[in-house]
Amino acid sequence: MENWELIIIGAGAAGLAAGIYGARSGLKTLILDEKMAGGAASDAPVVENYPGFPQISGGELTQKMVLHCKKAGATIHEIETVTALDFTGERKIVKTNRAEYETIAVIIATGSHYREIGVKGEQEFRGRGVSYCGICDGPFFKGKRVLVIGGGNSAATTTLYLSGIAAEVVVTHRRDAFRAEDALVKDIASKKNVQVFWNTEVKEIKGEKLVNKVVLYHNKAGETKEIAVDAVFVQIGEAPNSQIAREADLEVDEHGYIKTDVFQRTSVAGVYAAGDVSSHPVKQVGTAVGQGITAALEAYSYIRRPYYRT
Ligand code: NAP
Repeated sequence: MENWELIIIGAGAAGLAAGIYGARSGLKTLILDEKMAGGAASDAPVVENYPGFPQISGGELTQKMVLHCKKAGATIHEIETVTALDFTGERKIVKTNRAEYETIAVIIATGSHYREIGVKGEQEFRGRGVSYCGICDGPFFKGKRVLVIGGGNSAATTTLYLSGIAAEVVVTHRRDAFRAEDALVKDIASKKNVQVFWNTEVKEIKGEKLVNKVVLYHNKAGETKEIAVDAVFVQIGEAPNSQIAREADLEVDEHGYIKTDVFQRTSVAGVYAAGDVSSHPVKQVGTAVGQGITAALEAYSYIRRPYYRT
């Protein structure tokens, strides 16, 4: 069994920030990710609120973090899935589909996944017009009419990105106002090819081989109608990737986010959570980075017991 001092699960913004601080503190640090390193932020078409980078793609920003993390000395294993955690002993056990590791401390930074809308046609047309990622699938719909569902920052940034590719972007939001940031809402209002349908819910996604229409329900007027679209981008928020943590008996809140204190400590000593999987109420790249840093410094104190933390 391989021995490490710090194992970080998840190589998104939180995990990579933790990796930089862990490795620079001299901890033998391993980061595991079931996908390629970069995390959810790498799907963001454009990031305009990460300090120091007025405008950068999520992919470029997270790749800079990956390089920084490797330069700091952390080891990153990509495409390696954690299958079980055992926190019952003094040393923690991390099992993956490839190996079994022993470590002193663990930081869980597994992020979150896209929430589904749960209507007829969503599963059937997934990958055939139904998408959860504008930057991944938007370019397939150049010059077409696409629909975005949601009223938060994800829906807003995806709408803005798609407005530069598609001929027309229709946004449906179940309320009469966005909850997205003002700057994004103003940008959307200035786009000639974006049309917002307020108080509108998508009830069904229809098509033949590919999506070709949606059934819309106006929840104030009580009216239903069909409109033609070539794609549906579901942007209605996220849910935590906390299953392995729950199976290891870490405490989670009522929505499944891992409960943490201000030091990112969880209910088990030596185990920390950072980023979107944690119960921290703000889900931003910047806050994920901050939580990753806090978790790594706390893990360092736990592992090395420095004179200033006796
Ligand atoms: P969010 O802020 O939770 O917004 C989800 C949106 O989807 C809300 O408008 C919600 O409607 C709507 N919604 C939820 N369930 C729905 C359903 N079943 N049917 C129809 N609509 C539904 O999620 P998010 O936009 O994905 O953002 C997640 C986090 O990432 C946020 O903290 C956000 O600030 C952050 N983020 C930031 C940026 C950025 O550039 N700053 C970009 C992306 C994400 P209601 O309004 O009615 O609740």
